[in-house]
Amino acid sequence: MDPLPIDELMALDRRHVWHPYAAMPGTGPVFSVKSAQGVYLELETGEPLVDGMSSWWTCIHGYNHPRLNRAAQEQMGHMSHVMFGGLTHQPAVQLAYKLVQMTPEPLQHVFFCDSGSVSVEVAMKLAIQYWHNRGEPQKQHFLTLRNGYHGDTFAAMSVCDPVNGMHHLFRRSLVEQYFADAPQIPFEGVWEESDIASFEAILERYHGEIAAAIFEPVVQGAGGMRFYSPQYVRRARELCDRYNVLLILDEIATGFGRTGKLFACEYAGVAPDITCVGKALTGGFMSLAATLTTSHISETFAQGEAGVFMHGPTFMGNPLACAVALENLNLLESYDWAARVAAIEAQLKQGLAPCRNLPAVKDVRVLGAIGVVELHDPVDMAVVQPQFVSQGVWLRPFGRLIYTMPPYIIEPAQLRQITESIYSVVAELD
Ligand code: PMP
Repeated sequence: MDPLPIDELMALDRRHVWHPYAAMPGTGPVFSVKSAQGVYLELETGEPLVDGMSSWWTCIHGYNHPRLNRAAQEQMGHMSHVMFGGLTHQPAVQLAYKLVQMTPEPLQHVFFCDSGSVSVEVAMKLAIQYWHNRGEPQKQHFLTLRNGYHGDTFAAMSVCDPVNGMHHLFRRSLVEQYFADAPQIPFEGVWEESDIASFEAILERYHGEIAAAIFEPVVQGAGGMRFYSPQYVRRARELCDRYNVLLILDEIATGFGRTGKLFACEYAGVAPDITCVGKALTGGFMSLAATLTTSHISETFAQGEAGVFMHGPTFMGNPLACAVALENLNLLESYDWAARVAAIEAQLKQGLAPCRNLPAVKDVRVLGAIGVVELHDPVDMAVVQPQFVSQGVWLRPFGRLIYTMPPYIIEPAQLRQITESIYSVVAELD
């Protein structure tokens, strides 16, 4: 591929290429990346940017990692893709086994998917079909939390926050689900039973038609970057058991160490019936996700009407993605990632603390390798994004939130550049 001159590239981008959550033709600022190495993105124009986003939580070991590159190259020498119906291969089987070993003990069966949203669709279909298999076909609805985010496909969207997700636009196409109030007690707050009252009230009344509760444990990510009490997750597990409803925990954003635990459900000491993982699974190399479930659930499928689980994407278990993911998880286990995440947490707490004194700031919070500065008013991306870039930092705020989730390999000086840049940009806001 011969590179286009930068002006032509940007003009064609604006005219023809739709970006995430963007208008067409493009209006907001867009920067072209030439290459990426370690914690740096290099723009076509030559500037290096310290990456504070890990490309939306994925790139935990930085870009262009030699071990991930080598795993991909080796696998390409064998095959980059082969169908999964009736065939299997080393990368998928070894990765599935690794995921079973890493996740809570009851999760034993792995369904590979292409993206996080699809793994949520799969989780929801598993739950519905499970109840069908058990002779309770009326259990087809879901209980979820306000401020949640689970993806952009239709079933996933039906359990996203109804306001942020603009449900009214899709009213005739979206299934209506049950929404409990968002948890209010912060991560280290003193637990009060009233926090989970609306969740319990919905279960009490509608459990007969609810297949599962689905939510993000401890950290509500794209729906507001909110950290809440692990006790909520623990009580939700108990309530789901009491009311005969499955528990799906979406660990797509929280999984693989980001919150300081390998999986955020470990803060609560509970295991879900179904979990979704994605994002950091391949270390940001390429798209891959998975849905894991228990033997208790899987065993019912043989007796069900269909006799099988009714799902099977074309690129399921892609060998290249599985080989890279396996190497990425081996890499994660090869060093003390928890100590690195703890060090990032300590530095983020210290580095972002001065933001508390700025008039534009409502709240500053940090958990694991996630640092959030919540503002009183929404940021103007057209202004703020180029300011960060001019300071050599890549951040992508949304709404009232400026946040960072850097790669675990970030060095203290690079992280300082991010926190100082956040401070200086927020200090300029009135
Ligand atoms: N669940 C959660 C918790 C997420 O944060 C996301 C992505 N931001 C998704 C699901 C959807 O994943 P994907 O974008 O890979 O479809």
